[in-house]
Amino acid sequence: MNLIKYFVLNTIETLLRVFPFPCKTGLIKMGNPGTNSPVFLTCNYHLAVERVKRALKGIDCYLLVANSRGINVWCAATGGLFTNHDIISVLKTSGIEGLVDHRKVILPQLAATGIEARTIKKKTGWNVIWGPVYAKDIPAFIKNKFKKTPKMRGVEFPWMQRTEMAVAWAFPISIIAAIAVIPFWPETIFLLILLVWGLACLIFLAFPIYSHRLNSERKRIGFIFFDFGRGGFNLFIWIFFILALILYSILAGDFTWGSILRWGFISLIAILIISLDLMGSTPTYKSGLHEDRLLKVILDETKCNGAGFCDQVCPRDCYRVNRKEQIATMPRVGRCVQCGACIVQCPFNALYFMNPKGEIIPPETIRKFKLNLIGKRLTQTEGK
Ligand code: SF4
Ligand code: SF4
Repeated sequence: MNLIKYFVLNTIETLLRVFPFPCKTGLIKMGNPGTNSPVFLTCNYHLAVERVKRALKGIDCYLLVANSRGINVWCAATGGLFTNHDIISVLKTSGIEGLVDHRKVILPQLAATGIEARTIKKKTGWNVIWGPVYAKDIPAFIKNKFKKTPKMRGVEFPWMQRTEMAVAWAFPISIIAAIAVIPFWPETIFLLILLVWGLACLIFLAFPIYSHRLNSERKRIGFIFFDFGRGGFNLFIWIFFILALILYSILAGDFTWGSILRWGFISLIAILIISLDLMGSTPTYKSGLHEDRLLKVILDETKCNGAGFCDQVCPRDCYRVNRKEQIATMPRVGRCVQCGACIVQCPFNALYFMNPKGEIIPPETIRKFKLNLIGKRLTQTEGK
């Protein structure tokens, strides 16, 4: 795919990122692969496939595309839409088994929330190697003999990703808002679109400025409109916006309380929607809906043998593994985003979640029941 086509596709799919973009599943040959060439696997979210293909340019290898219902790796795996079954299916049906001599498949690390390496090995004989979080790191990962550096394991939320998320929220919300006001307030459409884009950019791009205030210890649950999130952060952003609006109106010479009230109300709704914690997509983290975010990862030292699977899949660098003493510790547990990957992958069930009431959520529950859109794990009892 040439650069212009790649850029256009990137732009369109970023604007519509909240929607699935499925592409064909199966096997793609990159360059001239042989029987010893590495086998990579990714989801069938179109943008992800294009990015992986771009990263693999010039490398002789195989790329398997497994069904994730057109959703990105992390969301699909955490939500139960990218499963062991999908990996097994593409390994068994793509013909890859006849093309290579080895049985090693490199999966994106963020799939570890939903895919169990041990089950894949047991059902297919293939060993799962957890690759880097970002496709751009694949060439360096290969150069490093298929070993990840700590940087390749981390989810950092850099400015590019924040811009993409701002665009992904702003585009559909501004379109819906514009359509909604056409019948009774058409003259404000342009301002409304500007407002939504401005707020989305403010919330996502200013993340490094306020991220240190998002203390995980203060997470709490509540109904979104009464609980303005962790430390009232969404409310803080709203007040900041209102003050800026008042200042601008006074300087522009058209200050009226009616206009401040009207735009104040609209901006509050926009901030609350942009800050919705759908599958963890908001940078302010707490909408009060995502109760999984209140859980703590507990390490049972009596069961841990220092194998280090947890460290390999943790996107927040929470672990340190002492191989000599065969034990893991969690010196940075405060950075945890409750993705559950470490719990799913620990072969000795040495990790589990505990809720604020001190109740334990065992590894089997985390492996079996995935999160829904608002971060709730529907267990069998609740589903009945
Ligand atoms: S917690 Fe589990 S995966 Fe991590 S080192 Fe201990 S036994 Fe291994
Ligand atoms: S420690 Fe937290 S962030 Fe790291 S893998 Fe476990 S649940 Fe995910």
